[in-house]
Amino acid sequence: MKKPFVTKEQLDEITAKYPTPFHLYDEKGIRENARNLRKAFSWNKGFKEYFAVKATPNPTILKILREEGCGTDCSSLTELMMSERCGFSGEEIMFSSNDTPAEEFQYARKLNATINLDDITHIDFLKEVADIPKKISCRYNPGGTFSISTDIMDNPGDAKYGLTRPQMTEAFKKLKELGVEEFGIHSFLASNTVTNEYYPTLAKILFQTAVELKEETGVHIGFINLSGGVGIPYTPDKEPNDIFVIGEGVRKAYEEVLVPAGMGDVKIFTELGRFMLAPYGHLVTKAIHEKHTHKEYIGVDACAVNLMRPAMYGAYHHITVMGKEDAPCDHVYDVTGSLCENNDKFAIDRKLPKIDMGDTLVIHDTGAHGFAMGYNYNGKLKSAEILLKEDGTTQMIRRAETPEDYFATLEGYGF
Ligand SMILES: *Cc1c(COP(=O)(O)O)cnc(C)c1O
Repeated sequence: MKKPFVTKEQLDEITAKYPTPFHLYDEKGIRENARNLRKAFSWNKGFKEYFAVKATPNPTILKILREEGCGTDCSSLTELMMSERCGFSGEEIMFSSNDTPAEEFQYARKLNATINLDDITHIDFLKEVADIPKKISCRYNPGGTFSISTDIMDNPGDAKYGLTRPQMTEAFKKLKELGVEEFGIHSFLASNTVTNEYYPTLAKILFQTAVELKEETGVHIGFINLSGGVGIPYTPDKEPNDIFVIGEGVRKAYEEVLVPAGMGDVKIFTELGRFMLAPYGHLVTKAIHEKHTHKEYIGVDACAVNLMRPAMYGAYHHITVMGKEDAPCDHVYDVTGSLCENNDKFAIDRKLPKIDMGDTLVIHDTGAHGFAMGYNYNGKLKSAEILLKEDGTTQMIRRAETPEDYFATLEGYGF
């Protein structure tokens, strides 16, 4: 069973104060989860989570995570700028970009962020547009398919990211000649994994690769970055990952592979996005229309502009009709937004309790890759973001867009 992190009474108060739709975040849940992650990896002295800013690019959220010991993982100029303005500096910022424009490398160097190179040709590019830092990381792509026991998890061979194994050796040799003193290895091989085996399996591959690279090139490997990919159960039938089991699995691989190779000082980094935030966000919306044609439709005041995952990937997001948690799910609805796109549906053929006009719906697990993927199709405006604080009060942490925001880039240009 998926339960909202707010009660109906709480949410009635909140929707009386802020018009729907909006994204609501649970500070308590965010902090507890971040603390558990730290605890799960506390066996590693240098452990650090660099939160993937793209998942939830909100300054208040970033500052909460910073208080919990996290840095940021950026892949664009504005993500770097946001991190800087939120107080992150130097070692607290990872720059894991790809197809990187010159000015973004320059900005990352200015902040002294740790640069994670996506390609061997980026060595010369970085040298030309900025300089080569003393510490650098390279993103590894082993190619082929990535499996856990017999399950194929993903297809790294089709992914645009990273260096091949021979390129890793060549890149490390070249970077060493250019004066790099500390090296990192990064890899992201599967997304939204709901298994405790993903990180340990990935860790073992990266640890073995690190030992080989050290032997081949003689470089000092300072950190290994397991990146993102630890997922959450969007559907109610799945069990959530256990971060303590995951941390312990990585520790075992570390003891087995790195420690005997004299590499027991390697720091473990992560760049989790979804795992850090997704369950701690709800998209709150109200039913404004019901339509009985070839199917039964409930029209809500949110649309794919507020949450694109169902339209883009056919992703499942659980829905709770507030106040009807225990009512029988004896109706079958398509829950739709207002875009002129037939894929603007938050749910298709979903069994739900009878929905009445004005009912508040909570769409679950929207805290990561939710608001962030928003766009302005049909001239629809992005919603506000509200924080439910630990003391039960609320704070607006981003206002909703206005028509003036939408028109701002047109003013003076024929408009
Ligand atoms: C998207 C991304 C992440 C975060 O991924 P999640 O699936 O949200 O954990 C981390 N690192 C990089 C380089 C990414 O592109």
